[in-house]
Amino acid sequence: MLNQFIMSLGTAQDGGYPHIGCLESCCIKVRERINLKRLIASIAIVDSKKKNFWLIDISPNINEQLIILNKYIQDYSSQSFAGIFLTHAHIGHYAGLLNLGLEALNLSKIPVYVFPRMKIFIENNSMFQQLIDNRNIVLKDIEQFVDIKLNRDIKVQAFLVPHRNELSETVGYRIKSRNKTLIYIPDIDSWEDWDIELDKLIIDNDILILDGTFYSKKEIKHRDIKKIPHPAIEDTMQILKHIDRKEKSKIYFTHLNHTNRVLDDKSEEYNTVITSGYNILEDKKVFNL
Ligand SMILES: [Zn+2]
Ligand SMILES: [Zn+2]
Ligand SMILES: [Zn+2]
Repeated sequence: MLNQFIMSLGTAQDGGYPHIGCLESCCIKVRERINLKRLIASIAIVDSKKKNFWLIDISPNINEQLIILNKYIQDYSSQSFAGIFLTHAHIGHYAGLLNLGLEALNLSKIPVYVFPRMKIFIENNSMFQQLIDNRNIVLKDIEQFVDIKLNRDIKVQAFLVPHRNELSETVGYRIKSRNKTLIYIPDIDSWEDWDIELDKLIIDNDILILDGTFYSKKEIKHRDIKKIPHPAIEDTMQILKHIDRKEKSKIYFTHLNHTNRVLDDKSEEYNTVITSGYNILEDKKVFNL
């Protein structure tokens, strides 16, 4: 029986899948076949023995995501809700916080880990101010590359990544257990704009859950792609063409936009990703720590 693990609570981009307001075939078919539905990107670090958990990002789908977690967590008290790490101030990544307040869960003193600009964003926003005033949440400062100990076995470390930072910084997380490390980067503008070596990041870690918003930049027709930069999966695979298959198999793409054909496991794009040695992250996938 695995006691400590990471669970994927959702794998869709901020607008959800089906995407809010989309009347195209990509989303109409999901309305008809609800098992195709995906929740908005977020992961949980679960200690099923202590019966507590931490979230990385708290999405607008938190209600359904807690139902998924219910398999391992039998109560949603302030004791079981051990903390929340936020990546950035885009709606899919923090809006679920509102559910911690009096009208909904009414939790007490839940630690919410934030960088300085994200802190200012939350403190200066009256919806969240109320959560602070009512002591539903307590903001905790984090610094780049400084370990936060969750328990005896697990540490979390944050690092900055390039993204459209209008409202806050954007961070990725490294979760480290005694045996394994997992990297979580749901949103990034591009691998080239980041001053790290992507190959080395992959070699140095065991599991990498990475931004796979678009398969190809061509899939966006109604919006200006320059305003929503993400590394397309086909470009990421091109950059990583030379690495070993064993290294590729560590990568799981997430934060999938409704236009992304990898959402359909019968598509050519899905097949290309899988036969190239990579993975598409599924909701409810569990990674033993
Ligand atoms: Zn996002
Ligand atoms: Zn759609
Ligand atoms: Zn974003």
